[in-house]
Parts: sequence; structure tokens; C-alpha cells
Amino acid sequence: MRIDLLTLFPAMLDGLLGESIIGKARERGHIDLRIHNLRDWSTDKHKTADDRPFGGGAGMVLKPEPVFAAIEQLRTPGSRTIYLSPDGTPLSPTVGQRLAGEQHLIFLSGHYEGIDQRIRDHIIDEEISIGDYVLTNGTIAAAVVVDVLARFIPGVLGEENSLTHESFTRNLLDFPQYTRPADFRGWKVPEVLLSGNHALIERWRLEQSLEKTRRLRPDLLP
Ligand code: SAM
Repeated sequence: MRIDLLTLFPAMLDGLLGESIIGKARERGHIDLRIHNLRDWSTDKHKTADDRPFGGGAGMVLKPEPVFAAIEQLRTPGSRTIYLSPDGTPLSPTVGQRLAGEQHLIFLSGHYEGIDQRIRDHIIDEEISIGDYVLTNGTIAAAVVVDVLARFIPGVLGEENSLTHESFTRNLLDFPQYTRPADFRGWKVPEVLLSGNHALIERWRLEQSLEKTRRLRPDLLP
């Protein structure tokens, strides 16, 4: 899968999408992820990518010219262009899984006051929000969406199991996890996890998931 990320702050993404599971997925060729500086498509000598809003008001707005030039250069037949926006479709595992099935995604991050409406009207296919709050810029949101969808790309998560037990996958929150030592400062790991009885362990985990979901997120249960 190919992913292009367009931002005014590419360095923000180098660390977030260069390490750990996503970094390995890139190394192994599961994701061809390319980070671009929008200013590379600005044509004036100051590399301007934003300007003051018509009608007045605070902040700056991303200009259409560099954004259209970038997307028109990067897009491929069948690619999908996504703008990160607080008023977009809320991100969910379902949205992540659907995006993971695409061949080529281009993400556009806004900054300051957002982007010129003509970009949204004429070259963006979809808008996604990562929650009902406002971030300082969309680069963080783009990294979140890439992280969520990448987990659905076959081979990205080492163990296929990891996905089936995750929070939300079965409309249940995840069960508690423990590791060595079995006794830390007198706080002991539940006996059942040391029993070696896999059927009992599975039952305990399901019960814990159900209890936790009832307590913390009853809205998830039917
Ligand atoms: N004036 C805009 C509004 O109220 O919708 C907010 C602009 S925000 C300060 C700057 C950029 O951050 C936006 O252009 C968008 O790309 C990104 N952003 C902010 N909150 C977001 C969210 N909840 N989900 C996705 N992107 C977000």
C-alpha cells in the first residue's frame, strides 16, 4: 500500500512514523510511506503555502495552488485523497479497516485556520476527524489515522492474534495483561494466568473484558 502525507511540518512525522511497528512495516515493504513538505510545491521565492483569510480574522489559511499542484502530481488512478478535519467522519476501527483496503492514500494536513474551501470542494475525496476537539495542526491527526489503518494491513502486526483481542474489535475492551514478576511488591498476578489451563485463561479474559466494558463503556454493549 502506498501512503503520501502532505504537511508543512514533515519533521513531526519522521519520528512518529519512522519507529516501532510502523517503522518496521515500512522497512519490510508492507507500506510505502512518503512524507512531503507542501512548500516544495510553492512557486514563489519565499515558498509561501498559506495566506490571510479573505474577510479578515485571525490566523492563516493554506493556499490552493501548492495543494492542487502536490495532489495532481502525487495522485494515481484509484488513489483517494483525505483531508484531516475536526468536522470530518469520526475515525473508528471500521474506517481504519476500510482505508487499509485502499491501494493509495494521500493525506492532507491543515494548519492554523485550516485550508481554502476550494481544496475541500474540488480535490478532496473524504474528510476524517480523530475526535471532537481541535488540534493545532492536522499532522498529528494524519499520523493517528495512518497508525490505526496500518494495523489492518496484513503482515504489519507480528501476531495475527493481536487484532482479534484488541479493545473495540469485538465491541469489548481489552482484558488486563500481566508479565513477570508474578509477585511485585505483594501485588500478585491472578492465579488463573499461572495455571497453564488455556480454556480457563480464555474464560477469565472474556469475563474481565465484559466486566471492564460494562464498567467503563456500557455504550459498547448490545
Ligand atoms: N478552524 C478549524 C475548524 O474549526 O474546523 C480548525 C483548524 S485547526 C486549528 C488546524 C488543522 O488541524 C485543521 O486544518 C485540521 O487539518 C487539523 N485538525 C484539528 N483538529 C482536528 C481533528 N479533531 N481531527 C482531524 N484534524 C484536525
